[in-house]
Amino acid sequence: MNGRVPMVATNPSWMGLVTRLCVCLLVWASIPSEFARGAQSREIKRVLILHSFGRDFRPWGLYAKAIRENLERLSPWRIDIQDHSLVSARSGDENPESPFIAYLNALYSEHPPDIVIAIGAPASNFVQHNRQRLFTQIPLILTAVEQRRIQLSNLPDNDTIIAVSHDFRLSFETILRVLPGTERIVVVNGTSPNEKFWLGELRKDAASLEKKVEFIWPDDISFQDFLKKSETLPPNTAIFWHLMNVDATGISYEGNTALRQLHGVSNAPMFSYDDGFFGNEIVGGPMYSVLEISRLTAAVAVRILSGQKPRDIRPAAIKYANPKFDWREMQRWGISESNLPPGSEVLFREPRIWGVYRWQLLLIAAVILVQGALIGGLLHERRRRRLAEAESRQRLTELAHINRNSAVGELTTSIAHELNQPLGSILTNTETAEIMLKSSSPNLDEMKEILADIRRDDQRASEVIRRLRSVLKKTPFEMTYIDLNETVRQVIGFIATVSRGRDIALKYSTCSADLNVMGDVVHLQQVFLNLIINAMDAISEAEAREREVSVTTNRSGASAEIRISDTGPGIAITDLKYVFDPFFTRKPQGMGMGLAIVRSIVEAHHGQISAANQASGGALFTIRLPIARDRSASA
Ligand code: ADP
Repeated sequence: MNGRVPMVATNPSWMGLVTRLCVCLLVWASIPSEFARGAQSREIKRVLILHSFGRDFRPWGLYAKAIRENLERLSPWRIDIQDHSLVSARSGDENPESPFIAYLNALYSEHPPDIVIAIGAPASNFVQHNRQRLFTQIPLILTAVEQRRIQLSNLPDNDTIIAVSHDFRLSFETILRVLPGTERIVVVNGTSPNEKFWLGELRKDAASLEKKVEFIWPDDISFQDFLKKSETLPPNTAIFWHLMNVDATGISYEGNTALRQLHGVSNAPMFSYDDGFFGNEIVGGPMYSVLEISRLTAAVAVRILSGQKPRDIRPAAIKYANPKFDWREMQRWGISESNLPPGSEVLFREPRIWGVYRWQLLLIAAVILVQGALIGGLLHERRRRRLAEAESRQRLTELAHINRNSAVGELTTSIAHELNQPLGSILTNTETAEIMLKSSSPNLDEMKEILADIRRDDQRASEVIRRLRSVLKKTPFEMTYIDLNETVRQVIGFIATVSRGRDIALKYSTCSADLNVMGDVVHLQQVFLNLIINAMDAISEAEAREREVSVTTNRSGASAEIRISDTGPGIAITDLKYVFDPFFTRKPQGMGMGLAIVRSIVEAHHGQISAANQASGGALFTIRLPIARDRSASA
């Protein structure tokens, strides 16, 4: 087999080339006639096409159609084509031949055809056998006929032949090459005399391969029975489609019916030798080209009609064209392209998704790219915003720390005064204890009370210092889940010392409901501290009669509300919209940064702050912060 493989690639390609050259030469040779087209255009050339079985029997029906098209294309004359079909080809019954000859002679006695073209072996044999009785003077072309089916040696001068040369062994070897696992080949062949002749030839070619593969010959059963069998052929079976013109029960199959039916039910891949069968059902292989043979036939006909002698135009027998394969069938049977013979052509490739939806895919890709770029840009922006936010929070923290230091600095006198009290008590109690210890029998119970007082005063002083430290510590801005009521209480605890020193009543009431927010404790403490100090400053400066600062917490919808009011003079109407601006101050020593920092902190907590004057007098600052859903949700 290996020794023959290159033949698959080389011989058909050489033959294809030679055939094409012949067609070109023949077409070229008919060119002078083209110049005479004007003069001859009125002339009609009558062409009689003789079919073997009928106009639509495969593969010859396709040859006839292509010959007709090429004749019309190449001919400088008007062409009148008449078709007749041999009846005897189906059964081999020669009885109808004589009346058929008489019929044709009678039909064309007045206007004989200018040329007769017999297509296929049965028609060619018929004309050749009856040449003495039929169209004796009319040039004859025998075409699409295998050279073994015709007597080439004694071809009359007025006859020529476009012969073909079957090579079934090459077809079988190709099956084994493209499907190396093939164990058996079923050969489909009919029972008309022509098909019976070929059965013998097929068996001869198969004989040399019988060691490699089993051959099955179902020609003794009806085609319908074979169809049933073909549904369940054993694995690794291939079908070689030769002909099915007439089956074992004498039923003729026109057109593509039989092949299509078999393809519909068979569970095995099908191969053939003529591309008249190729295009839907057949996997492929080296095959005759209907087009090439038909073109050549038409070109030869035109030359003969131009006056050339048929005996001078006798091309060599045509071999298979380059192998070609049907991509769809290759997919169906899992045939790899690497198994195909060199030089093979793969046809009917289904366009890949890229080929079918190119623009849609490009559009989708463009949308994805744009979307990707947008997402990338947005993520970048988000990152930049986060960095900017973190930076601004850092600045705020630093600024707030400075602000706290200065606020506490202002309170130093009050704090020192507050510290003095427990320290003074400690000193007094210590002196008393010393005096008591000098007595001969000190009262131990009283001593215990004194020590308890000292301890309590010390704790009071420590508490003042602890609160002072907590206010002054510099911590990064950190959001945690906090209880706002508790935060307010801590601030009150710290500032109460100062308010007492300033003789200002510091009242506060917290709402009974939980008031939890996400926030930074130290910064929120600073907010309340700033507002309370401002309120106390306003009362002190105005020397108000009623000296009271009140702090209340409430829940208002989804917000926690903190109100800080005082009995001071309030804020001038014209100042109300500026009080939160940086460096706005009405105090001689003021910096004007307290409320600006307060607003920044509140906004960093996604809250709001507003300033107003109360109807009863004094300023009112209201802060709203969003309530946190719950600890786990915010974690
Ligand atoms: P500073 O205290 O250094 O002046 P703030 O930003 O804390 O800066 O306050 C800005 C101004 O707002 C104060 O100078 C004062 O005029 C006004 N202000 C703030 N709180 C009150 C208040 N409770 N009553 C009246 N005026 C106030």
